[in-house]
Amino acid sequence: MKVLGIETSCDETGVAVYDTEAGLRAHALYSQVALHAEYGGVVPELASRDHVRKLLPLIRQTLAEAGMAVDELDGVAYTAGPGLVGALLVGAGVARSLAWALDVPAVAVHHMEGHLLAPLMEETDEGPLEPPFVALLVSGGHTQLVAVDAIGRYRLLGETLDDAAGEAFDKTAKLMGLPYPGGPHLAAMAEQGTPGAYRFSRPMTDRPGLDFSFSGLKTQVLLAWQKSDQSDTTRADIARGFEDAVVETLAIKCERALDAAGCETLVVAGGVGANRRLRARLQAMAEQRGGRVGFPRPAFCTDNGAMIAFAGALRLQAGQSEDASVRVTPRWDMASLPAVQS
Ligand code: ATP
Ligand code: MG
Ligand code: FE
Repeated sequence: MKVLGIETSCDETGVAVYDTEAGLRAHALYSQVALHAEYGGVVPELASRDHVRKLLPLIRQTLAEAGMAVDELDGVAYTAGPGLVGALLVGAGVARSLAWALDVPAVAVHHMEGHLLAPLMEETDEGPLEPPFVALLVSGGHTQLVAVDAIGRYRLLGETLDDAAGEAFDKTAKLMGLPYPGGPHLAAMAEQGTPGAYRFSRPMTDRPGLDFSFSGLKTQVLLAWQKSDQSDTTRADIARGFEDAVVETLAIKCERALDAAGCETLVVAGGVGANRRLRARLQAMAEQRGGRVGFPRPAFCTDNGAMIAFAGALRLQAGQSEDASVRVTPRWDMASLPAVQS
């Protein structure tokens, strides 16, 4: 089954073709980062308009790269939420219309399920990743620990009470004067920093539970930065201290979640999953426990069409699809999704 995947939930237009027999056939991504940079954040109306401009050319490009004609598609998957309503509607409208014109099914995909399943697309020496596992979702808008009993059967174990991990990276980078979007810049800066030069707290690790809180960390960094000489060396040292605090906090909670779920497989997804130090720390933890950890390739940690094509293909294969109306769900609880596997 060949499935076209369309992602337009925020500021990335992503398109891909996933073939349930041959794997990923092609994918293309257009990032609107430059468009929103001067505003220091995503402007929803500009995002929608840019998806309108880019989506059809990107679909043509992806099909050409896959060496496919449009009528070879067996289904269309699109992100229906969570996300910006106008941006989602662009993807949903195009996906639904295309499916109608081709007389193939269309399926609505939950953006975070897309992130969550992305690691399952990767080939590994240890064989395919399969549920049950615990998923750490760390993106720009979410920080969640989810027990995955089967594909489509998700139980929320814990989540952030304020900022998401990616949001904390972005805001912290901004307050130290790094360019938008700050997360990857902050991580690069941290590479040059001296470990231990600055030490920030590991929020909410001193009490039981699997929830997170990252907004206080940002304030700690602000105070340290204001008191410092604000040199490049100091910026790098603070970045390193911040990154270590986030990574350590996430690792502690992942270990707790594995214990709570009685499970030794961890899957990590979302933009912060691209962070090198987080990957190394969780890899070391898994080795020490005799378990395993799976990540998407770094390019599929952040938003992309491949994860939507893949998640959609699994749902279409299970016989799920939508009626002909164009509907999106800007706020959407993943635990309410229908199961794919029993
Ligand atoms: P959501 O998926 O919750 O709706 P989103 O789609 O905006 O949010 P993603 O695209 O998954 O989020 O991830 C983007 C986030 O990942 C940004 O906050 C960015 O700063 C962060 N990020 C990307 N690369 C890195 C990195 N190497 N280290 C730390 N953070 C990173
Ligand atoms: Mg983005
Ligand atoms: Fe995302």
